[in-house]
Amino acid sequence: TNFQELGLSKQLVDALSALGYDTPTPIQEKSIPQLLQGRDMVGLAQTGTGKTAAFGLPLIEMLSKDQKRPDNRTTRALILAPTRELVNQIAVSLKSYIRNTPLKINAVVGGASINKQQQQLEKGTDILVATPGRLLDLISRRAIGLTTVRYLVLDEADQMLDLGFIHDLRKISKMVPAKRQTLLFSATMPKAIADLASDFLKDPVQVSV
Ligand code: AMP
Repeated sequence: TNFQELGLSKQLVDALSALGYDTPTPIQEKSIPQLLQGRDMVGLAQTGTGKTAAFGLPLIEMLSKDQKRPDNRTTRALILAPTRELVNQIAVSLKSYIRNTPLKINAVVGGASINKQQQQLEKGTDILVATPGRLLDLISRRAIGLTTVRYLVLDEADQMLDLGFIHDLRKISKMVPAKRQTLLFSATMPKAIADLASDFLKDPVQVSV
């Protein structure tokens, strides 16, 4: 199987070949067609399996087709991750895939200048990658709103719970429209994650690698 057969457009497939991605990894092969169909998903996968592209590529594909960014103070896709390192790593990967598209990606994390992040957000965002605490700080400053979010991704959900982000996640989920596509990735599936998934997701497909 190649990426085109999974349903990605030529523009995106070309960007991937330029990066040396010729063959989808197992999680990409299982996830991409389901996500392009609009399904919610629970993915049981570790880092290193290619999970960033597994959710990032369908997101980019769908955002490129959807109507344009509504205004500069909102985002259309929100990706939450537990640590600065992971947020930055996700943003770097996604930026390498969006070449050839007008999409804008921003990363916001704690421990860096909030003023700079606020200025950056004013230029517009289609995909926001964030740690939960810093996102809530930026929302309370009205630097970003979530009323136009159509895609929500919780990456390394087990880590987010271990780090005590459950309260923040619940707050954030209330600000995101109920009509959305939600994806949850986790390396493990303890009961707390299964409960979170049943609260946040609708009839999800389960993918594990
Ligand atoms: P991840 O599990 O998302 O952290 O990805 C692990 C590494 O695999 C990253 O360095 C990606 O750039 C790379 N990668 C992901 N998918 C592919 C692919 N289909 N072909 C080649 N490399 C890939």
